[in-house]
Amino acid sequence: MRAGAAPSDTIFAPATAAGRAAIAILRVSGPDCARAVSTVAGKLPPPRVAQRGRFIDPTTGEPLDDGLVLWFPAPRSATGEDVAEFHVHGSRAVLTAIMEVLRHLGLRLAEPGEFTRRAFLNGKLDLVQAEAIADLAAAETEAQRRQALRQLDGELGGVYRGWSQRLTRILAHLEAAIDFPDEDLPPEIEDRSLGETEGLAGEIERHLADGHRGERLRDGIMVAIIGPPNAGKSSLLNRIARRDAVITSPIAGTTRDIVEVAVDLQGYPVVLADTAGLRDSDDVVEQEGLRRALRRAEEAEIRLFVFDVRCPDQASGTAAWPGPDTISVANKIDLAPAYRYLPNTALPVSALTGEGVDALLSALGQRVAQTYRTEAPVLTRARHREALEDAVLSLRRVRDAVLPELRAEDLRLALRSLGHITGTVDVEDLLDVIFHDFCIGK
Ligand code: GDP
Repeated sequence: MRAGAAPSDTIFAPATAAGRAAIAILRVSGPDCARAVSTVAGKLPPPRVAQRGRFIDPTTGEPLDDGLVLWFPAPRSATGEDVAEFHVHGSRAVLTAIMEVLRHLGLRLAEPGEFTRRAFLNGKLDLVQAEAIADLAAAETEAQRRQALRQLDGELGGVYRGWSQRLTRILAHLEAAIDFPDEDLPPEIEDRSLGETEGLAGEIERHLADGHRGERLRDGIMVAIIGPPNAGKSSLLNRIARRDAVITSPIAGTTRDIVEVAVDLQGYPVVLADTAGLRDSDDVVEQEGLRRALRRAEEAEIRLFVFDVRCPDQASGTAAWPGPDTISVANKIDLAPAYRYLPNTALPVSALTGEGVDALLSALGQRVAQTYRTEAPVLTRARHREALEDAVLSLRRVRDAVLPELRAEDLRLALRSLGHITGTVDVEDLLDVIFHDFCIGK
């Protein structure tokens, strides 16, 4: 059990989405679980074996439904408490009737996230895994699902815990040197702990310098469509979104704000943003649109620079965004068929006919996959980033600290920052290392 008292009440909630379905699952967790199951299902089934039964309203004896019940006694359950699942017919009436009975028995409807919260409090998962559950439930594309599942498997939390353990060891050695100066400790311990501290700070910094890949994957990878007015940016976005998300018009300067469309590109979540055409204008509203367009273009991970294939001089505009993250797109090839054969690095498309758009999307998808496919677990949340940045700050202060006590304090602060990520800030760990490594206090 982690910090905080054991929740003593028993909660229930539908585990499946609301609405009509073949089956709905009602989950119950807490000390009163066994009583509730025996009352409603007649008896308690053997642990972890699905048992068919008739569910009864105990006050009237009236049958409520015919279904399955599963019983997971503590601690081998999702929350670490006694847990039961009722699998019932998925109608609102059945669910309501059973929930009413449970309420009558003194159980209460769970708050949002309360099952996961209890799982965390009972040490079933760390905070990073709890966040992964939320991400997995919200995942819309393959890459998001994969990232969340890896996080749920404990890979990311494992990295952070590994750092915490190393830091705990460094701190333990230093504390031992401070607290027990007469013991036979190797004299180079302080130097070594400094070296290890620097090494760890470097590692965390490298993890931080990942271009926000994990966070981007959660939120959607930003792609800005930029280019001169009337090049066909809005038409291209419409073509990609396959719906009229943006109003296109032959009058320059129609797109004054930014319109976003989320698409799934080869499993990656991409948010395409249409921006105002890049041109000089006296119109105040258009100038504002332009300012936003430029900012969005700068912030975007990838830019599609669209120009009219009949105006090759426009193509030079792409020079403002050099590098592999800007893809040059020659639009309106339907109006100038000969251009599509010109040797050019720009991808030829026609937003009007759709020609070349699949090739463009596949090039964009490859670009995204190249950047975002990753083997090592990546940072996924600003919350983790902030904690890691704090940890690095503390670790970098260690070298300048004049007294070992101050050094130890900075190490402790770093450890606390790391602990905030997974939700484990534990002095017991420290004591364990001290006593195991040195046999002090014999
Ligand atoms: P934006 O200002 O860059 O967003 O350009 P729009 O998408 O509003 O397009 C400007 C004009 O060009 C509109 O009249 C479109 O119908 C037209 N247009 C856009 N793409 C194409 C294309 O591939 N072929 C042809 N023939 N016309 C296009």
